Amino acid sequence: MSSYIESIEKLIDKLIKFPGIGRRSAERIVSYLLGATPEEAKELAEAILKVKENVRFCRTCNNLSEQEFCSICRNPKRNRNILCVVERPNDVASIEKTATFDGLYHVLMGAIAPLEGRGPDDLKIDSLLNRIKQENIQEVILATDSDIEGEATALYLTKLIKPTGVRLSRIGLGLPVGYNLEYADSATLSKALESRRAI
Ligand SMILES: [Zn+2]
Repeated sequence: MSSYIESIEKLIDKLIKFPGIGRRSAERIVSYLLGATPEEAKELAEAILKVKENVRFCRTCNNLSEQEFCSICRNPKRNRNILCVVERPNDVASIEKTATFDGLYHVLMGAIAPLEGRGPDDLKIDSLLNRIKQENIQEVILATDSDIEGEATALYLTKLIKPTGVRLSRIGLGLPVGYNLEYADSATLSKALESRRAI
């Protein structure tokens, strides 16, 4: 039995679906919202709607974007010869925070995870290979996670990319085994990028 009135219980139900939010955190958010002004609550609701309406995936790299192509792909100052392959758009944001990488990205939208029923065909691998063939890519950095799925994905990609002759490297030195890139702090991540090893 719930100890809250219906509208609050409904909001808590919605909030606990968020990653990392348990019931206790949801209750704290609700009590914050109860103390907020109607304008603040409205702004929050509108910000959520705006993200859903305006944000899509970049047609080239699958990064999050409000336009057809993301701000990184559109930036003429980026080095177009080097491609950093990551699992999620969040990883792009993490690497951008380090300010040590000036190339382009390719977001796979996941990693190979047979136990979860996710194979290579579920990832953006074909478009990656097309980019390597069609764009003037000279180096590809595999920056998937250092957990089992990330390593399996890096191995799979190595087999596909190696024959194309581009320089291929893997980040990882300094990253603990089982590490998720999106939770890495900037210092660790920039060290991992700098110490990438050729494969
Ligand atoms: Zn892009």
